[in-house]
Amino acid sequence: MFVLSSPSGAGKTTISRMLLDADQQLRMSVSVTTRRMRPGEVDGTDYHFTDKARFERMAAAGEFLESAEVFGNHYGTLQATISTGLEDGQDFLFDIDWQGAQQLSQRMRDDVVRVFLLPPSLDELRRRLTGRGTDSAEVIDARMERAQSEISHWDGYDYVVVNDDIQACFDKVRQILEAERQRRTRQLGLIGFVNELMKPKG
Ligand code: 5GP
Repeated sequence: MFVLSSPSGAGKTTISRMLLDADQQLRMSVSVTTRRMRPGEVDGTDYHFTDKARFERMAAAGEFLESAEVFGNHYGTLQATISTGLEDGQDFLFDIDWQGAQQLSQRMRDDVVRVFLLPPSLDELRRRLTGRGTDSAEVIDARMERAQSEISHWDGYDYVVVNDDIQACFDKVRQILEAERQRRTRQLGLIGFVNELMKPKG
């Protein structure tokens, strides 16, 4: 379970896409949310969109591995999809916030790797959050404030990568993923393989 979090403007969406394109073993965890669909989003691909009443019923029924309220909307990770996938040896990428990262690692412990992306500077963050230049100064200030409050949760992560250059950042995140896969305890079938190697000759 590979968790990628960041304040908006730090490049998480781009890095996630690059990882999914480059790594066929990795699948995106599609969350359930109560927020409204944005133009271009596809139900079932970007999120499973639902209403608050249904979300609450699902939460009460224990269907979420983790869930959180972010900027007034509810988000949750489906327990059943992830558990079945993990049993089949599937690796998952999670684009979730710090609350989700915390809950996941409390429940799943060593199965979780948490990576936090940071912008290279406040000036650059402001530039990235300014977008197409159509938003008012107040809207941009509010985004900056939100991003800075998200940054305050940096210490709940195993790795922190500064996204100065998108390709360099991607390379680092991919190296983390590959290194974490080589952990002895994560390699399925390793005991049998090593036992074969240790068998006396002849
Ligand atoms: P957005 O609405 O812009 O897609 O996402 C807003 C925030 O919610 C992002 O920080 C994203 O990482 C977080 N988020 C998306 N899905 C989940 C989820 O299932 N659980 C948690 N805890 N956060 C989520």
